[in-house]
Amino acid sequence: MDFNQRFQNRLHCICDESVFFEIIEDIECDWGNHFVIQCPKCEELFSVDCECPAFGNIFNLSKNNDLPYSEKEKIDYFKNSHPK
Ligand SMILES: [Zn+2]
Ligand SMILES: [Zn+2]
Repeated sequence: MDFNQRFQNRLHCICDESVFFEIIEDIECDWGNHFVIQCPKCEELFSVDCECPAFGNIFNLSKNNDLPYSEKEKIDYFKNSHPK
């Protein structure tokens, strides 16, 4: 399943709103590109493909949501983190 399909559901954001995140498929950081989602309420950006200091960590949302990641994908998310 691609990231686009994975984030079609409502998620509970860190701003405490339950929202449909905006999907931004290609955004640049200093070390590469990312697939990110943005909260329409607080406008916080979360990196979906790997951890990056330029964006919020998607697993910050894991406290209030079942995120669509397998254990292996979660490990890879942190392993592939920027900067590299
Ligand atoms: Zn928010
Ligand atoms: Zn990055």
